[in-house]
Amino acid sequence: KLFNQIQEAKGNIRVFCRCRPLSKEEVSAKYATVVDFDMAKDGELGILTGGVMKKTFKFDRVYMPKDDQAAVFVDASPLVTSVLDGYNVCIFAYGQTGTGKTFTMEGTEQNRGVNYRTLDQLFKVAKERSETFTYNISVSVLEVYNEQIRDLLATSPASKKLEIRQASEGVHHVPGIVEAKVENIKEVWDVLQAGSNARAVGSNNVNEHSSRSHCMLCIMVRTKNLLNGESTKSKLWLVDLAGSERLAKTEVQGERLKEAQNINRSLSALGDVISALATKSSHIPYRNSKLTHLLQDSLGGESKTLMLVQISPSEHDLGETLSSLNFATRVR
Ligand code: ADP
Ligand code: MG
Repeated sequence: KLFNQIQEAKGNIRVFCRCRPLSKEEVSAKYATVVDFDMAKDGELGILTGGVMKKTFKFDRVYMPKDDQAAVFVDASPLVTSVLDGYNVCIFAYGQTGTGKTFTMEGTEQNRGVNYRTLDQLFKVAKERSETFTYNISVSVLEVYNEQIRDLLATSPASKKLEIRQASEGVHHVPGIVEAKVENIKEVWDVLQAGSNARAVGSNNVNEHSSRSHCMLCIMVRTKNLLNGESTKSKLWLVDLAGSERLAKTEVQGERLKEAQNINRSLSALGDVISALATKSSHIPYRNSKLTHLLQDSLGGESKTLMLVQISPSEHDLGETLSSLNFATRVR
């Protein structure tokens, strides 16, 4: 309730920042931590270099390395519930490869992430409201790689290219995409696993491939109010973005260069859309990338957006950390 009030007062874009712990390798290489959390409870984060505070950044929330998956979800959950009230929602994780985007969104079997917790919450709240509403929930899983959409739930490799169509004002869809109807949380886990496994097909290094593509989970909720017979449809996107790191020009050629350019293009397009929304610009450039075009219904207007900026605490990653924090500042 409080969160929703703050939300209304401040617009519909929230930005949380999460810093992962130093890895074992970073600890044994004796890398210093450049992130200061003294003001974390006020949503502020400092960057230190040579022990001196260099710059501070302000967010709606800051999560320290010790904060767990449940702590992050507590703050995201009001947003999730609002999908059942008819809002479109988009939650995405942004950051350099290795900063915990997949950990936050997918998590592990022991440490389940936002995706699983979101569906779990949707089923729980739907049940609480079942005297007044019926909810029909389905899930699509897709990947955007090199500006091409791939359906990760398709049983046979798609023969035709998937494209985005506008069905009516403010309603976009991808004709032919699989929508898996889910009735309970057990079914969800299987669907998420199927999507995750399909990502590996056709790539010889799964981790590398996933850091260069956007993985997008779309939850469709069809609601019927049993008291007045009204029906509504809403959408929730959960997105694990491609790694935001810039590659040295000398490092990349050929296919790798094309990938890097497509990633830059779509992440810049996302930044442009969100900053255009934040400044209430009259033109919102959704069409500049497949990513923003897909998310169009769930970014801006009445919809609610949460960006999770993931960072590393290590001095070794300082450049990328500053670039992610600056990106986040631009959209806030
Ligand atoms: P990304 O998806 O951004 O490339 P990953 O989610 O794969 O990053 O995370 C990189 C490594 O760091 C993984 O081994 C992951 O388990 C670990 N990790 C990330 N965030 C956390 C965290 N908050 N707590 C513990 N381990 C984390
Ligand atoms: Mg990842």
